[in-house]
Amino acid sequence: MRVVEIRTSRGLARSGLPEYDYALNPYLGCLHGCRYCYARDFTRGEPGDLWGEVVYVKVNLPEVLAREVNALRPGVVGISTVTDPYQPVEAKYRLTRRSLEILLPAGFKASIQTKSTYVLKDMDLLFVYRDRVDVGVTITTFREDVARLLEPGAPPPRARARALHMLSELGVRTWIFLGPLMPGVNDGEGDYGPILDVARKTGSEVTLDRYRPRPGADSMLAAVGVEARPGRGWWAEKSREIKAKCAELGVVCRTAEEEWRAAREARRGRGLDEFL
Ligand code: SF4
Repeated sequence: MRVVEIRTSRGLARSGLPEYDYALNPYLGCLHGCRYCYARDFTRGEPGDLWGEVVYVKVNLPEVLAREVNALRPGVVGISTVTDPYQPVEAKYRLTRRSLEILLPAGFKASIQTKSTYVLKDMDLLFVYRDRVDVGVTITTFREDVARLLEPGAPPPRARARALHMLSELGVRTWIFLGPLMPGVNDGEGDYGPILDVARKTGSEVTLDRYRPRPGADSMLAAVGVEARPGRGWWAEKSREIKAKCAELGVVCRTAEEEWRAAREARRGRGLDEFL
C-alpha cells in the first residue's frame, strides 16, 4: 500500500449522476480494492492502474472547499463517487470529516456512500446535521468468503450492518446499496435475503444494482476466477424477484435505473440545471 499526498485545484465537481448536484472525492484510488469496482475505469494514472494498492490524498482539499462554498449554489453533494470517503487513510487525514464540517454549515446536503465502519467516528457531526445528511452502506453478500474475494480491503459485511444499525438508531437516514449483483456469484436468496432483513430492521431503503462489465473490473474479477457475464433477461427477472421480497418485508426497494430516472425528473422539476 502506498499513500501519495497531492494538491488539488478543485473540490466540488459537477456530478454526472442525476441524484447529486456535485461530487466530492477527497481521495484518488481506493484501498478497499473491490474487484468489481467501476471507479477504476474512471481513475487515470497510478491510482487507477494499481487499483487497491495506491491512494492519492488531496491534502489541501479543505482550503479549496472553503473558497468554493462561498461561490457555489448549495446542493446535494455525493460523497464519494469514485472512491470510498472512509477508506483507511481517512483515519490520518480526516478529509471527509473536514469537508463535511465546511459543507454542512454552508447549507449543502451530503449523501455519503461507504463500505467502512469508520463512518461512525463522525456520528456526532452526522447527528447534528441529520436533516442534511444520508448515509448509504454497500453490502453485496454476508458470505464472508465471497466478500473477502470481491472486496479484499473492505471491513466485513456484518460490521457494516452494525454501523447501519447505529446510524439509524441515531436518527440518520440510512440506505443500503445492494450491488453489484452478479449472476451465480452473489444473486441468490441466501445472499440478498439477509441484507433485506437488515434493511427492514434499520428502516433503510434499498438501491439494487447489477454488475456492468467494464475492462478494468472484468480483469480484476478474472484474476480471481470470477466471470460475471449477465445474460439476457437475467436482470429483469432477478430485480423482479428481489422487489417481490422487498414488498413482502415492507422494504422500499428500487433499481439504480429507477432512481436515476426519478432523480432526473426531480431535477427538471426544480429547474436546477440552469444554475450549474
Ligand atoms: S469501496 Fe467503492 S470505490 Fe472503493 S474499491 Fe470498493 S467499490 Fe470501489
